[in-house]
Amino acid sequence: MDPIRRIPRGVFFDIDGTLLLGDQALPDAVWALEALRAKGLALAFLTNNSAESSSQIRQKLVELGLAKVFEVVISGVDLAVDFIRQTKKRPFILGSETLKREIESTLPEGGRQGGVEVVIVGFSPNFWDLANEALRLLLQGSTLVAVHKDRLLLSADNAYAMNLGCYVAMLEYGSKQTAVILGKPEKRLLDLALSATRLTAQDILYVGDDPEVDVPFAENAGIECILRRSLSLGKHRIAGSIRTIDSLEELVKLVKQEGFLRRA
Ligand SMILES: [Mg+2]
Repeated sequence: MDPIRRIPRGVFFDIDGTLLLGDQALPDAVWALEALRAKGLALAFLTNNSAESSSQIRQKLVELGLAKVFEVVISGVDLAVDFIRQTKKRPFILGSETLKREIESTLPEGGRQGGVEVVIVGFSPNFWDLANEALRLLLQGSTLVAVHKDRLLLSADNAYAMNLGCYVAMLEYGSKQTAVILGKPEKRLLDLALSATRLTAQDILYVGDDPEVDVPFAENAGIECILRRSLSLGKHRIAGSIRTIDSLEELVKLVKQEGFLRRA
């Protein structure tokens, strides 16, 4: 029997593959987000993206008509910044210029004195130039910290590409270390989003598209999860117990008709 369901107070969305494909909004996304807002729901956008800051992503989402300027957007870059702020470690950054700039802006004037303690890995356009330098630091004892370890990326032409996880696995192999992972499926991203939206895990419905990342993320975080199946990475591998939708129209309909969250 279907559990008794209640209406959530907020819906948190994964971005790539759930609302966007490449740099284009999926056709049902703008309408569905408006319909959820009209219902009084708080919306937030959570991505493992390790190359763009949350303000860059927010600007893109606002231009596409997906997000409002006041809505919460949290990216993998925020996680890395938060990690360095919390741990006060001296980092070497293997990642985009944005990741580097954002992390460096949290360091004290002149950086922190002493040797490198952590190698932070994010998606990098000039990966090979930096990878060997990172490997040497890891072999000398620095800790490997990856923004995320997603295996595959769905490109705009709907073809698979290697995501950051493939490169992280390479550095793990070379350094004989297991990376500390900051992003989904770890729950740090949810903790940041909950404190920014002042909601609790019981209030949230999470919508994603990747069964390897979004499902364990929701499980670790104890939040209700729905997978967008139509473009889903590995759509044939979605377990039968996972609730899926084929379009965001279905999501809006379900939220309106029967709510979504299991009654606590
Ligand atoms: Mg996704």
